[in-house]
Amino acid sequence: MKAAIEEADAENLKDPDVDELSHFILRLSYCQNEELRRWFLDKECALFQNRLESRSHDGRSLHKSLALTPISQEEKESMSKELQAFLSPREVFAKTEFYAVPFQQALTLVSSRQCFLKGGKAYVSESKVHSILTLKFRSHLSRILVQMSNLRKNQTIDPEKARIEPLLANMSRVLVDSEPSDHMAVHQMGGPLNASNLTQYKENMPLCMRQLHNGLVKDGKLKHWGRLQYGLFLKGAGLSMEEALGFFQRHFTAVTGEKFQKEYSYNIRHMYGKEGKRATYTAYNCSKIIMGNAPNAGDHHGCPFKHYDAQHLGTLLQSLRIGTPEERSEILALKKSNQFQLACAKHFEVMHPGSIKMDNVNQDNVGNHPNAWFRASVSYLEAKKGLTADVTP
Ligand code: SF4
Repeated sequence: MKAAIEEADAENLKDPDVDELSHFILRLSYCQNEELRRWFLDKECALFQNRLESRSHDGRSLHKSLALTPISQEEKESMSKELQAFLSPREVFAKTEFYAVPFQQALTLVSSRQCFLKGGKAYVSESKVHSILTLKFRSHLSRILVQMSNLRKNQTIDPEKARIEPLLANMSRVLVDSEPSDHMAVHQMGGPLNASNLTQYKENMPLCMRQLHNGLVKDGKLKHWGRLQYGLFLKGAGLSMEEALGFFQRHFTAVTGEKFQKEYSYNIRHMYGKEGKRATYTAYNCSKIIMGNAPNAGDHHGCPFKHYDAQHLGTLLQSLRIGTPEERSEILALKKSNQFQLACAKHFEVMHPGSIKMDNVNQDNVGNHPNAWFRASVSYLEAKKGLTADVTP
């Protein structure tokens, strides 16, 4: 038995499709916290399921690779009527193998009447046995990840750990999905957007997001619509879920860490599609924000050009030192004639003089999408930096 396992391991190390080394390196990196563990488990289970299916298709039977024994031909024939009732449409009885597993391991199939029960055993066809194996794989991997996490925390610092620890700590950030365009723009400015450098990009945000950021800092929290509008914008700007959790927890100074974990962290994970329906939520565009719920007292969401009255907006522009008095009057005139998005585009123009002539500052959607405003603003700064560098002797 030991020899067989060693032989299989040696074979796997040579097989690029199996790629066990990467799997174990990722285990080390993704065991760090619950979020990462959950993400890793989802991906590994999907991969595991896929491999099981391809093993069935290419004729390599499960009992060989997973030490599962199919029932004998005689036993199968003796229950043929009952077993055939549980075949999926693409399975042919004569070619299908059945496995007998303790019914406790097939509770999902038992509860949905997808297998035949007899003498405390569930008789499961090959295609359905995959779901049992995936469940077992998930709970096994989950247990191992928790153990690894504890081991990593308790390990003393030695030179080897010091060498690889930064690599393991940052690996998850490299692999987390993000919206490429904004991410790229910020990356050019010196690293991806994260909980620590986010505030330095405050002035690259359109007025709506700047107000949300200022509101968050002032109140030490954001209400529901504000969290959604700002959170999805930051996601669109390339902030990873882990960094978003860190950023909001750090800025939710009005609530305790425990309350944040209980009441707010779920919403942030949900925004990233890691909770609930696991849907993909994208940043709101200007029409959605302008036509959406108007802010009430204590709210910071919405579009200032639409939802603030002219006096409030004028005072805000002045306090933020946006443009000259004449430029502010132009913005206010657009707001008063209900051309909110043009007022926002004018705000961009005032804050980024000469940008219209810069090839690498794409202003196409400025005034239509907050992330386009942000992206163009970051590109503008980058282009200016380049110009400065060109003239520096
Ligand atoms: Fe934000 Fe769009 Fe309003 Fe500009 S027009 S402040 S980007 S919602």
